Amino acid sequence: MAPTTFDRALVRAMPVVPKAVVRPLSRRYIAGPDLGAALDTIRALGRAGRSATVDVLGEQLTTRSQVDALMDEYRRALDAFADHQVDATLSVKMTGLGLAVDPDVCAENVRSLVAAARERSLAVELDMEDSTTTTATLDVYRSLRREGFDNVVIALQAYLRRTLDDVRALSPLAPRVRLVKGIWIEPASVAYTDYDTIRANYARLLDELCGSGSFVAIASHDEWLHWRALELIDRHGLGRERYEFQMLLGVREHLGDALVAHGHAVRVYVPYGADWHAYSIRRFQENPRLARHVAADLLSRARRRVPV
Ligand SMILES: Cc1cc2nc3c(=O)[nH]c(=O)nc-3n(C[C@H](O)[C@H](O)[C@H](O)COP(=O)(O)OP(=O)(O)OC[C@H]3O[C@@H](n4cnc5c(N)ncnc54)[C@H](O)[C@@H]3O)c2cc1C
Repeated sequence: MAPTTFDRALVRAMPVVPKAVVRPLSRRYIAGPDLGAALDTIRALGRAGRSATVDVLGEQLTTRSQVDALMDEYRRALDAFADHQVDATLSVKMTGLGLAVDPDVCAENVRSLVAAARERSLAVELDMEDSTTTTATLDVYRSLRREGFDNVVIALQAYLRRTLDDVRALSPLAPRVRLVKGIWIEPASVAYTDYDTIRANYARLLDELCGSGSFVAIASHDEWLHWRALELIDRHGLGRERYEFQMLLGVREHLGDALVAHGHAVRVYVPYGADWHAYSIRRFQENPRLARHVAADLLSRARRRVPV
């Protein structure tokens, strides 16, 4: 069922909904407040045949001390993955590593995490943020590859008009790519805005990546795209070591079950941390129907006179 105008109006109101109301719903999407909760979730995913990529919540950081604190947490996470021998990568955002504070510090932070990950036989995935950061993120990725780091995955967004050129330019590096539709609100001058066009571009990019020797992570909950990906994987004769599916924690788990049951690798994006509010609001914006739960909860609290 498509979201209604009412659902969309609710979504616009989400940022002002009290956190106490959003929190119970966000539990489905977030492992918990700390690394211990993330490790429990990773182990549970492992029992269900899935690996993980872990996101420490915290983005758009604007001070050096915030960035340093997040770096400490990333290092703790890498140590924990190695010590507990869990199948997990680390997902990082450039704005969490100081892009807005100092691009050179940001680049050095990414480098230091990727080096620490390599020492532990682990990988780092570079999330892609809004289009003002795309070139900077690709530049950091390229410089890491020039330095010989191949334990790094780059996210590319199918809604961006530039991505086909980026894929072709990166092709000689045989990059490890996470392909997503793209989540940020972008103007039509830089991004496709029509749902079917974004889907078609996703399939086109996937075709290029499958044909270019890249490892590709199909990060989507769109069943049609799963089907299209399986068709392309078959047509290009990709072995299991050349692709995986990725999904967000708590989203359309039955599709992940079906993929695992048919022998495909599935990695789940596991966010944790105290900074859960902004992440939850983005998830609600993607699925406006969820906002109805929040509205219903607000209403029933009001009726019961429960404080929020
Ligand atoms: C592992 C992973 C990593 C990602 N990394 C990035 C990144 O680095 N940069 C970036 O811009 N975007 C990232 N995204 C988000 C991505 O760009 C899309 O916004 C998101 O995945 C929704 O697109 P979809 O392909 O699932 O298709 P859609 O057509 O949006 O969704 C298909 C179906 O899944 C349901 N669904 C989708 N998302 C949710 C949700 N959150 N909650 C409940 N139901 C949902 C929809 O209701 C719909 O029925 C990532 C997504 C995943 C899965």
